[in-house]
Amino acid sequence: MSGTITFTMIKPDAVEANNIGPILSMINKAGFRINAMKYLKLSREDAGKFYAVHKERPFYGELVDYMSSGPIVAAVLSKENAVADFRKLIGATDPTKADEGTIRKLFAKSIAANAVHGSDSDENAAIEASFFFSSLERN
Ligand code: UDP
Ligand code: MG
Repeated sequence: MSGTITFTMIKPDAVEANNIGPILSMINKAGFRINAMKYLKLSREDAGKFYAVHKERPFYGELVDYMSSGPIVAAVLSKENAVADFRKLIGATDPTKADEGTIRKLFAKSIAANAVHGSDSDENAAIEASFFFSSLERN
């Protein structure tokens, strides 16, 4: 059965463009609840750890630089079928290929600066949520 939790980040480009509010509003309107949320700037080291699964990919260095370039918003979201439904809401990684009306189509600047992160599996959602939120903080 698919899980009810996913993890998201509003990335530095979208925070810089003052789009935290509109993006959270789209997330709520799509039926997600916000279970935990924080605003912070990742160190290079933490950005590298978060994206360690991509460390062999050619864009890894730039991705780490970018994700530590400015503040982000990290959040745990809940809804039935959360992971798949959230991936649908955000659209394709490359905003030029994202469907109309998706968060990336509306707000992303480029394939790297693509406005939001969304977990790709229930297992990674749990790992990513616990990277940012301890069980004491998540009420
Ligand atoms: N990314 C990039 N260049 C690429 C592919 C990905 O800079 O060619 C960045 C982009 O910010 C993306 C992140 O690396 O969101 C993680 O890549 P992934 O393939 O997991 O895409 P996502 O799951 O975020 O759609
Ligand atoms: Mg991914």
